[in-house]
Amino acid sequence: MKVKDKTVEKLLEKYKEISLLGDISAMLSWDLNVNLPANAIENRAEQSAYMAQLITDKWLDHDFKKLLTKANNIKKLKLEEVAVVRNLNYAAKFYHNAPKRVIVEFEETSSHAYVAWTEARKKNDFSIFSPHLSKMVKLNQIIAKHYGFKDNPYDALLDLHEPGLTTIEAKKMFDQLTPKLIELLKKIKKSKEYKQQSKNNLFSNEVYTRENQEQLCNFVLRKIGYDFETGRMDVSPHPFTTQLGSSDVRITNRYNMADFRESLSVATHEGGHALYEQGVKPEYSNTPLKGGASLGIHESQSRFWENMVGRSESFSKFLTPILHTLFNKSLDKTNSNVVYKLLNQVKPSLIRTEADEVTYNLHVAIRFEIERDLVNGQINVVDIPKIWSGKMVKYLGVTPDGDSNGCLQDVHWSSGPMGYFPTYTLGNLYSAQFANSMKKEIDIDSSIEKGELGTILSWLRTNIYTHGSLYLPPELVKKVTGEKLNPKYFVSYINSKYKKLYKL
Ligand code: MG
Repeated sequence: MKVKDKTVEKLLEKYKEISLLGDISAMLSWDLNVNLPANAIENRAEQSAYMAQLITDKWLDHDFKKLLTKANNIKKLKLEEVAVVRNLNYAAKFYHNAPKRVIVEFEETSSHAYVAWTEARKKNDFSIFSPHLSKMVKLNQIIAKHYGFKDNPYDALLDLHEPGLTTIEAKKMFDQLTPKLIELLKKIKKSKEYKQQSKNNLFSNEVYTRENQEQLCNFVLRKIGYDFETGRMDVSPHPFTTQLGSSDVRITNRYNMADFRESLSVATHEGGHALYEQGVKPEYSNTPLKGGASLGIHESQSRFWENMVGRSESFSKFLTPILHTLFNKSLDKTNSNVVYKLLNQVKPSLIRTEADEVTYNLHVAIRFEIERDLVNGQINVVDIPKIWSGKMVKYLGVTPDGDSNGCLQDVHWSSGPMGYFPTYTLGNLYSAQFANSMKKEIDIDSSIEKGELGTILSWLRTNIYTHGSLYLPPELVKKVTGEKLNPKYFVSYINSKYKKLYKL
């Protein structure tokens, strides 16, 4: 990236080292999730902690700090230069405020916590993970204190994931959404269609081979435009996308032999994250403008491809003949209308990542409330399974059958700072608002039905992906949709889609 200002140019040189170290760190973490032999964990924890130390040193470097202070006082900077300085200030805030020993301790603790989480999940026993989580909560509280906040320590952790998001704002978002979703869910559960759908037994036997599921996922990923020359798909207990360099954007998946829908939605979801990364302007590589505008905007892209494309009526039409070929023994009698219903079956369930669009945000609301109360010291870690169950019953009407399918289901609490979950719901809201704007320019349904997804991808590239993190989320949303974030687009999308599907 070419810049005119000499100070910004020097900052970019310095940042490049941070970016490279970050990619190496991400590589270690990808390997931990995908490949690591059981006994190698001590080695990896030490290596990751050392990398965290090196990265922290770069952020704390005296010359770097001096340059950043100088850059903050320059009046005339170009748009990109302003964004570079702004993004550096935002990222540096964590390192300049949290003590180095806490950052390193966090990294060490999280490697061990990850292993404990895997074991606890396998053994269906929260008590194995509980002491590690207690440590993680304490570290989160320390980080929040040093990072700084106005009203609530949880604000600091939210800001680390979505610039400017506060506890009050997040609560407002969930308050606007959850009662409407609970009401819609109640109506759906009372419908004839719901009872009809619960009778299907297409997913009771392990008839969907991993090989065929992989074939389906590879096909769909190529269709949506995922570039396998700059990425790959592997297997991990919790699916994720990681960027190890501008031309190395990897995703992972997991396979349930009884239900092909899980790996399919993971492929479109993680594929959507990856398309964003693969679509950022190449000259932003290794600069503070790389990556997405925020986690919320990032999630809007995974949810767009997963739901607005992958779970649309037109995509079901496109996909049906392919499903017939791959899974002819079990799905040969399903027409596209049935496939559409199968892909959108509303079923209050225990697992967030497998949740339908109606119940998904209810899972996130539960995480938000528990995290907020943990960080505020209002609840204790040992009580989480009980609190979790209570909230699952209240919001979704289901009771977890154990810890694995309850509070242990997600990797997040073992791997990084808290405050991540609300970005999932933000992503859903953004995705509906972006889709509303896209539909004014493109007939997306007819493109999807023909399997011609290039026009959709190029719209997203031009309007969102290419900019990387040049714009802050509110600026980007305004630029693309003409207004600020407005939950009404998601509410209207979800109501009209599911009222039709369940004949309400
Ligand atoms: Mg995601």
